Amino acid sequence: MKIIFFGRPGSGKGTYASRIAPHLGIVHIATGDMFRAEVATGTPLGKLAEGYMKAGNLVPDDVTINMFKERIAKDDAKKGFILDGFPRDLEQSHALEKITKIDLVVNFVIDEDIIIEKALARRICEKCGNIYNIADIKRGNIRLPPLLPKKEGICDKCGGNLYQRKDDNYETIKDRQDTYVRQSAPLLEYYRQKGMVKDVSVIGGPEQMVPIIIDVIKKSIK
Ligand code: AMP
Repeated sequence: MKIIFFGRPGSGKGTYASRIAPHLGIVHIATGDMFRAEVATGTPLGKLAEGYMKAGNLVPDDVTINMFKERIAKDDAKKGFILDGFPRDLEQSHALEKITKIDLVVNFVIDEDIIIEKALARRICEKCGNIYNIADIKRGNIRLPPLLPKKEGICDKCGGNLYQRKDDNYETIKDRQDTYVRQSAPLLEYYRQKGMVKDVSVIGGPEQMVPIIIDVIKKSIK
């Protein structure tokens, strides 16, 4: 299975992909995580990417596409993958088309104001990258409960400290949303015209959403 998880930054793609990929026996490839790892280890690629990430802008296509090509060529990607955060513009989608054929695009639908509230409350484990969220959002039929660690500030999985991602501040979050509308949303229309998109409304937390998403995937890819 070759699947793209699409949607606004902060729509929950990373959380869902990290849970659903192992369930389906495929790998989760997140270009944002790859860039953050490069920044953390101070590689030349990380140094180049950092400024763009801080500003909420896309890292240039040539750099991103090269990094992606190296990742997708690894053996573990042969059994299938969920792409999270790639492709993000038309040039990246054309590069992807040259590499492989995608079965399905799952598009996560959620309002920008909810995303902003949720993104400001996101916490990440500095050691293993596990994601938590301290916001408790209730609006209409939408109920996004917090995803709390058992012990405040400490990762359940590995005991690492939880931190707020540097680019999870209001200005950057808003800039990332604007970048999505400007550069990524047109890509969604492109996939929609090809009949590849299934929309999934984000109405609940991961416990509620994961089975819904797995169901959509299984019904769409026979
Ligand atoms: P994410 O965790 O997916 O929200 O990505 C964090 C940041 O990494 C983005 O705001 C971009 O600066 C950069 N980034 C991640 N994926 C891509 C991509 N496919 N193209 C360009 N920049 C990306």
